[in-house]
Amino acid sequence: MASVGSLLAEARAALAAAPFGPPPREAHLLLGRVLGRSEAQVLARDGDAVAPAAERAFRALLARRLAGEPVAYLTGEREFFGRPFRVDPRVLVPRPETEHLVEVALALEREGRLVPDTRVLDLGTGSGAIAVTLALERPRWQLVAADLSPAALAVARENAQRFDLLGRRSGRGAPAGRFALVAADLGSALRLEAFDLVVSNPPYIALEEAAALSPEVRDFEPPEALFSPPGPSEGIPGAAGTGIASLLLERFGALPERAPMVLEIGQGQLEPLRALAARHGWRVERAVPDLAGIPRVVVLERRQVHQGQ
Ligand code: SAM
Ligand code: GLN
Repeated sequence: MASVGSLLAEARAALAAAPFGPPPREAHLLLGRVLGRSEAQVLARDGDAVAPAAERAFRALLARRLAGEPVAYLTGEREFFGRPFRVDPRVLVPRPETEHLVEVALALEREGRLVPDTRVLDLGTGSGAIAVTLALERPRWQLVAADLSPAALAVARENAQRFDLLGRRSGRGAPAGRFALVAADLGSALRLEAFDLVVSNPPYIALEEAAALSPEVRDFEPPEALFSPPGPSEGIPGAAGTGIASLLLERFGALPERAPMVLEIGQGQLEPLRALAARHGWRVERAVPDLAGIPRVVVLERRQVHQGQ
């Protein structure tokens, strides 16, 4: 019978040879998934025998990983802001860059720029990573998590339940009604004026960039989570991929009292976004870089309109 150690050694070698460079520790994650153990437990049991059925299951998962399937879909989980979120092919795998968006939203409160019982709209919630995290980090905030995709919303619901945000369990958890899930296209079914803060990691890849994407992303993640259809941003240089962002700016910009908006953007999109923001009555108050130094998160505020101008 194969041992934990021999299967790990074999899988690590296979992963190291894969062209997309998966980290060798994924071998432990996948074997842990099959054996129902944590990564650390797998590491500590090098000499244990692995039953033939488990070995077959492990080899099947490894083959899927080697074909490019994201490891988070195979394990069913991805950590975001220190918490494990359930993920599957119905949703984008939450990215570390998006943790900056959460940090920026939390910072707005520390800076005294939000009311204590902030009502937040997360547009394009996907797995719910942003909305669930904000609700857990700020127990007084009210969250509406919206997505066009009912399939994605089902995953967001599972995550909200997992963290006890839907108020169904007795005792602890959120008061009922603090967290809501809504199927909506860009907030069309929502009373937009009811929000104090809008956060969104919209799809921001232009369709024509699909060929250049890593197959791990392009061939496995939901297209509606990745690709932005062309929008009213056409005509602004470098604006490919900002179609959904520009619709958001347009729709929310039409409100007399508009909440600040925190948006994730793609590489090279800061300048086109500034131009779009100005067009719809917003200004980019700050742009926050990710760990690679790429401007990744922007805070948008209503532009001051001066009398007589
Ligand atoms: N918020 C999650 C995160 O950061 O990991 C997922 C973000 S994913 C990039 C974008 C999400 O927006 C997808 O779940 C997609 O279904 C949703 N979406 C795309 N177009 C939309 C639209 N017009 N209205 C509402 N949601 C939309
Ligand atoms: N960050 C994702 C990627 O680069 C894209 C997600 C998005 O479009 N918001 O693959």
